[in-house]
Amino acid sequence: MQLNLPLFKKVSETPGAPGFEQRIRQLIIEEIRTFVDHVEVDHMGNLIAVKYGVQQPSHEKKVMVAAHMDELGLIVKYIDQEGFIRFHTLGGFDPRSLIGQRVIIHGKQDLVGVIGIKAIHFMTEEERKRPLEISDLYIDIGRTQQQAATYISIGDSITRERSLIELGNCITGKSLDNRTGVFVLIEALRTLQEVPYDVYAVFTVQEEVGLRGAQVAAHHIEPYFSLALDTSTSLDVPNVQPHDRVARLGDGAGIKIMDGHTICDCRMVDYLKTIATQHNIAWQTDIKAVGGTDTAPLQRMPKKGSIAGALSIPIRYAHQVVEVVHQADAISAIQLLQQALVGLDTYSWEQV
Ligand SMILES: [Zn+2]
Repeated sequence: MQLNLPLFKKVSETPGAPGFEQRIRQLIIEEIRTFVDHVEVDHMGNLIAVKYGVQQPSHEKKVMVAAHMDELGLIVKYIDQEGFIRFHTLGGFDPRSLIGQRVIIHGKQDLVGVIGIKAIHFMTEEERKRPLEISDLYIDIGRTQQQAATYISIGDSITRERSLIELGNCITGKSLDNRTGVFVLIEALRTLQEVPYDVYAVFTVQEEVGLRGAQVAAHHIEPYFSLALDTSTSLDVPNVQPHDRVARLGDGAGIKIMDGHTICDCRMVDYLKTIATQHNIAWQTDIKAVGGTDTAPLQRMPKKGSIAGALSIPIRYAHQVVEVVHQADAISAIQLLQQALVGLDTYSWEQV
């Protein structure tokens, strides 16, 4: 199987800061509308695509698969007299990763800006020692305040400007967290065989600011089974001890066991491992004590909870502009998701 890189590139580069997912949502709708049975957008902006199952009644054990389509972003809070822009962050940016980056301000039209900071050789000793804060940074758009005001308003969203390229066996770009999950879900739907139960493929909003969209969608759909699709920091890089590493890029799709918000259902973990092994799909475990994904609301928002798990695509440099994922892991995730959706009625889900 070969990755559809032109689509991956479009999915990665299309903007969609939390609360401003219109453009990425539109792109996904255009991609998936011909291979699902029903598409709707809820009041909060979650995109819900349904493929009906063949078992009757197929809606009694709905499956929800969630991939968040928002990306880390910024938002304009102030334009100063010189035309420099101050901003709030939408999601957990490491301020150090923002210095010297190009961004796109989505105003009346898209405008490129660069993130500036006072030059280091003019900083005082004290300024150099203290940790960098977002308030030290600003966006320079090379225009006067008056010109800036023509295009830009307080509250406009801002995203990172970075194109996706191949990097050896990997790919690198911005927003691979979680446009990799979005891409995997689109590609899994494209060639999905008959499924026993109704599959709700949900592209959620506002995950990066607190798993917000998935709460609403899971509450509404009330899935019996649920799977989140997201990237997970692998830590397979220099200066990390072997016992602190989580996964290795290229070793396969991650099957989440736990993170800071969720202990995955042990039946779902066992099911995913079984399916991956049966179909010869490369997999590895994903276990950590920090962080969280849409898995948490998927598991807890339905009235009786759901049998929840997650597929994690290993990622390096998450929340920076040079995120890296391995092409083979994305392929494994597509295959494992497809087989997992098809085989749900072949496993014994009894609580023992
Ligand atoms: Zn994510």
